Amino acid sequence: MTISRILIANRGEIALRVHRAAHEMGIETVAVHSTADADAMHVRLADQAICIGPPSATDSYLNMAAIISAAEISGADAIHPGYGFLSENAKFAEIVEAHGLIWIGPKPEHIRTMGDKVAAKKSAGELGLPLVPGSDGAVSDLEEAKQIAEAIGYPVIIKAASGGGGRGMKVCPSEDQLETLMKQAGSEAKSAFGDDTVYIEKYLGNPRHIEFQIFGDGNGQAIHLGERDCSLQRRHQKVLEEAPSPVISAEDRARMGKTCADAMAAMGYRGAGTIEFLWENGEFYFIEMNTRLQVEHPVTEAITGVDLVREQIRVAEGKPLSVAQEELRFTGHAIECRINAENPFTFAPSPGLVTSYHAAGGMHVRVDSGLYAGYRVPPYYDSMIAKLIVYGRTREGCIMRLKRALEEMVVEGIQTSIPLHQQLIRDSEFLNGDYTIKWLEDWLAKREN
Ligand code: ADP
Repeated sequence: MTISRILIANRGEIALRVHRAAHEMGIETVAVHSTADADAMHVRLADQAICIGPPSATDSYLNMAAIISAAEISGADAIHPGYGFLSENAKFAEIVEAHGLIWIGPKPEHIRTMGDKVAAKKSAGELGLPLVPGSDGAVSDLEEAKQIAEAIGYPVIIKAASGGGGRGMKVCPSEDQLETLMKQAGSEAKSAFGDDTVYIEKYLGNPRHIEFQIFGDGNGQAIHLGERDCSLQRRHQKVLEEAPSPVISAEDRARMGKTCADAMAAMGYRGAGTIEFLWENGEFYFIEMNTRLQVEHPVTEAITGVDLVREQIRVAEGKPLSVAQEELRFTGHAIECRINAENPFTFAPSPGLVTSYHAAGGMHVRVDSGLYAGYRVPPYYDSMIAKLIVYGRTREGCIMRLKRALEEMVVEGIQTSIPLHQQLIRDSEFLNGDYTIKWLEDWLAKREN
């Protein structure tokens, strides 16, 4: 199979990212967009552009019928979903394939299993990945919940089986609050995800978030591309990511990476995936798997030299992985700053007209963004407007370059998180790599006082 025209079912920087990989492979692109995105950069650069609906994502970027029609009208032979929107929708993947189009993503059954966190945990356990101690599947009964929580010890975390984006989680400190929090978690999950299934896990006090990038060819071959440290989070949302992690040894990387790759090989996994762990006291605990490209994939690209989108497209065409595990080298250090259209310290959204824009440049500096002067950031979608990815031979060198690159970035007319990153990377604990998933919120709270 050869792909000659890809419809990109997404917007913003990731739509551009896919467009760039496609054009470098001599593949044409079709942009789809809402009426609010008619002037977006991905729409301007694509070979064809089709409007698929009004601003609301439900009526446009999540509108399966409109996207499939756009693929047929434009003569696309493949669909790349990016991240978010329909990227982890198994039904959409099936519909794409049923229309004779190539789905640039994992097999629908794997998306389905990993999308249900209870099924994912079960499957991960069977594949030999270490799990967070907790309930063996969904929990609906209060007495059962009490017994499980008692056995693993408080605090526990109640999580929605269909959760995502850091939503649908409740930390329960003691038994007297279990009933109330179980009910709350269930009803919040019901309204957010249409499914009130919850499960219980040990709440780890102060872990790091370490995730492994894996890649499978769908025929039993799989590799890992090392880890990313995504511990700098606010409200369970990642803010800055780095690769490699400042705390993972080469031995642990090789050992855990191999465990992940072997698991994916056994599954017959196809395409890019991320296996997320919490890491505490030297131990890894699986929390979930994302069956798609991640926002933070460029830090892995920087230290491995592998173009992950190109690899996704190749695998979708039925080709083997272009790199073998033994050939992969992890060299240097990379950091990504997520730049959002928001107040850097109150996090109030700040959409609107970008009056002036200049992207940082120079050696080992990458800016993935659809911004330009005169662009109006719409209020309807995710607030991330740019990613700044910087590489250095050492972590120290990378941070020095990142400081310099952040100074060069100019985004005027709206507020952005650039000043947050500038302060963050000057903190001595950050400089020492000494942080966990709690650190950023504590740091923000201290700043306010
Ligand atoms: P989502 O799919 O919503 O992102 P995850 O299961 O990946 O949910 O968890 C998101 C974040 O929530 C983690 O990065 C971590 O910060 C926190 N978290 C999840 N599970 C636990 C746990 N068992 N103990 C402590 N923190 C947790």
